[in-house]
Amino acid sequence: METSTEQMKASQVFCPNLECKARGEVGQGNIVSHGRKRPRYRCKTCGKTFSAKEGTLFAGLRKPTEVIVIVVTLLAYGCPVQAIVHAFGLDERTVASWRDRAGKHCQHVHQAVVEQGKLDLVHVQADEIRVKGCKMIAWMGLAMMVSTRLWLAGVVSLTRDRSLADRLLAQVRACCQPLRALLVCTDGWNAYPGSIRRAFREKVKQTPGRGRACLQVWPQLVIGTVIKRTVKKRVVEVTRRMAYGSLKRAAVLLRRSGGGTMLNTAFIERLNGTMRERLASLTRKCRHAARRLEALHSGMYLLGTTYNFCWVHQELSAVRDAATGKRLASLKRTPAMAAGLTDHVWSVYELLCYKIAPGPWVEPKRRGRPRTRPLPDPTLPKRPPGRPRKELAYAATS
Ligand SMILES: [Zn+2]
Repeated sequence: METSTEQMKASQVFCPNLECKARGEVGQGNIVSHGRKRPRYRCKTCGKTFSAKEGTLFAGLRKPTEVIVIVVTLLAYGCPVQAIVHAFGLDERTVASWRDRAGKHCQHVHQAVVEQGKLDLVHVQADEIRVKGCKMIAWMGLAMMVSTRLWLAGVVSLTRDRSLADRLLAQVRACCQPLRALLVCTDGWNAYPGSIRRAFREKVKQTPGRGRACLQVWPQLVIGTVIKRTVKKRVVEVTRRMAYGSLKRAAVLLRRSGGGTMLNTAFIERLNGTMRERLASLTRKCRHAARRLEALHSGMYLLGTTYNFCWVHQELSAVRDAATGKRLASLKRTPAMAAGLTDHVWSVYELLCYKIAPGPWVEPKRRGRPRTRPLPDPTLPKRPPGRPRKELAYAATS
C-alpha cells in the first residue's frame, strides 16, 4: 500500500537538476522513490537524488514545518519580529532569514504564476508610497489590476526617480497580453506618463526591406492622471485629466473594469493602506540596518503574494444583486481566483511548498567555428599515444 502511494507521489514530482535532460517533466516515469525516513527521490535520467523538500521554502531547514508556517503567516500579517522572537524562543536572525527566504520564494511564485498569466488587465492603477525606515527613506512603487484587485508589481528604491517608474511599468507589461485596450490611472507624478508610454510599445515595421523597426505606443492605451491638492492633510481639490488618449475611451474602460465612474486612484490607495499597515514592522529600528532595503523588498513580495493567493478578499467574495447592488451571499474568493490564475484559496503552507518547474531542457548551442575536418571514426582503433617506437621507424626507412 505504502509503495503505491509513494509511486503516485513520485509521478507528480519533477527533476530539479538544471543539467538533466528530463528536468521539469512530470509523470514521465523517470522519478523513483529514494529513502523513506527523510523522503528523497532519484531521477533515472541523470541519476541524481534530491530531497522531497527541494524547491520549497523548507529545503534545508531543520525546524518543524508547522513552526515555520506559523512564523511566516505572522510576518505576512505584519507581526513585529521581536514579538515572534519572544513568543517562539527563536533567534532574531533566524526569523529574518525565514522572512527573506519566504520573500524570495514568493517572488519566484509571483513571476511564475502572475507574470506568466498573460491577463487582459483593462484598468491598472499605480502609485508609490514613502516608507520611513531606520535612518533612511525608501520609496515603494505598487501597481494593481482594478477589476480583480490583483497586485501586479512592486519596486523598492532609495530614490524616487524615472528608473523606479520604468521598472514598475516593465513588470506590469510582463503580466499582460499585448496590444489590448488598457487604462492606466496614476497620481500626478510627472514621470508616469513617459514611463507608461515607454513600457507599452510594440515594434512596427514601417518601411519595407532592411532597416530597424520603430517602436509605437499601443493604439488603445489611455493614461489618466488624478491630482489631489491637500491642505493640512485634507483633500480640498481633485484634478482629473487625461495624459494620453481620449476621455471617452477611458470612460468605456472604467465601466468595463467596474472601477468607478470617474478617473480615480482609490483602489491602489486601499492597497497602499494594507501594505503600510503590514510593512510597519519591517521599518522599525533594529540592529541590521544595512539590509533594510532588502528586508523591505522581501517583505513586499511576502505581503503581495499572500494578499493575491491566500487572503480572502471581502469585496470580491460578495455576490451582489445586479439591479440593486445588495449583498446576497458570500463566496470565498481571492484576487488570484478572480483573475483566473487558480481555482481555490491557497493556504500559506501550499504557497511555501509551491514548486516551480524549470523550463524544458534545450541542447546547448555549439560555440565557435563549425568543424572542417570530420570527427574520427569511433570503430577504428586509436593510434597508440606518444612517438612511434624506434625499431619500427628504422624498419620503415631501410
Ligand atoms: Zn534528472
